[in-house]
Amino acid sequence: MLTQKQMEKFAELAVSVGANMQKGQQVVIRCDVKVKDFAHLIAAKAYELGAKQVIVQWGDEELSRLNMLYADQQTLCDIPQYKIDEMQYYVDNKCCLISVSAGNPNIYKGCDADKLAAYQLAFSKARKNFRDATMSNYLRWTIVSVPTEEWAAQVFPQLPKAEAVERMWHAIEHIMRLDCDDPVAAWRKHIDTLHKRADFLNAHNFEYLHLKNACGTDLKVGLALGHKWLAAEEEGQDGIAFTANMPTEEIFTAPHNKKIDGTVVNALPLVNNGNVIDKFSVTFKGGKVVAFTAEKGYEALKNLLASDEGVLSLGEVALIGKNSPIAESGILFYNTLFDENASCHLAFGAAYPTTVNGGNDMTEQQRAAAGLNASLQHVDFMVGTKDIDVDGIAFDGTVTPLFRNGEWVI
Ligand code: ZN
Ligand code: ZN
Repeated sequence: MLTQKQMEKFAELAVSVGANMQKGQQVVIRCDVKVKDFAHLIAAKAYELGAKQVIVQWGDEELSRLNMLYADQQTLCDIPQYKIDEMQYYVDNKCCLISVSAGNPNIYKGCDADKLAAYQLAFSKARKNFRDATMSNYLRWTIVSVPTEEWAAQVFPQLPKAEAVERMWHAIEHIMRLDCDDPVAAWRKHIDTLHKRADFLNAHNFEYLHLKNACGTDLKVGLALGHKWLAAEEEGQDGIAFTANMPTEEIFTAPHNKKIDGTVVNALPLVNNGNVIDKFSVTFKGGKVVAFTAEKGYEALKNLLASDEGVLSLGEVALIGKNSPIAESGILFYNTLFDENASCHLAFGAAYPTTVNGGNDMTEQQRAAAGLNASLQHVDFMVGTKDIDVDGIAFDGTVTPLFRNGEWVI
């Protein structure tokens, strides 16, 4: 367990480095009732730093599971207007958002997969405005994570629950740099290092990346026209920087959704809405999935890939070296926030408009012309094995090695 002082520093990281809350702003904390104590710490820190008001949008995953088991599909898919209005309120009032991700990766185990998929699609449609506001950085937002017993038990199934939680805290302490004297300063330095690599990639303006490893990945990912590599800190539409994911180790941009060819094999399990999908491969042609296999969670992958047209292409390519603290921990967290920062990854579905120059001001047609993918989904999956090689290929065919054996070489 962290000391009280470390917990307060953690809350401070979320408020000031993560969402970068400004004085007089409304803050929305989105969090499960299981981690209410941490939500209260964040709320206290936000007020200390000048929040106008703190609102908590409580989740209750146990109740969500009961609803999924016993309510009928039509009722579940009929998203009440007040829920939509609530999300719209956050957009209209330019609230800054702090999400605490602490979900049990298996919460929907045993639930009807079709019902779950139908609900998720209905919910995604209902939150379109809200999602656009976060994906386009209209709102500043961040996600942080604290362990729960259920989650820790999944990560360390061989340990008694209390010990599993303790191990998770220990890992998170290091990953979040809470073991440094000044975690806020340590984060500033880390963000700087990431930005230098992003600058290198931006200066080269590659046409393609070529990903290759020994377990079957051989994929050329074209990059969107006018793409921009981003890392750690991004700029909100109001010009104020924020760090959307904490931890973050990735440098990412948008693929060109018509220029993806070859096959990619996953490196870590994909946990999507309580389903674990593993040992899968996906083959692309001209930017679109044309075939896929999965030894585990085939139905879940099939449902995901049938959810809309855009999910069949990619909206993100992200590079992370194998020596990042998360990768080094060797822990599979069954949580995207951590696992995506352990490994190079791709995302099925929507691209962030911020990953092309001027993307936020483009019309949908202009975004499409740049190769930016549109979808209701954005689902990351890990492809960065310890032996992955990545080359950047310029428009004139020049090849620049970026990764050898899973680590940066620039
Ligand atoms: Zn990512
Ligand atoms: Zn992503």
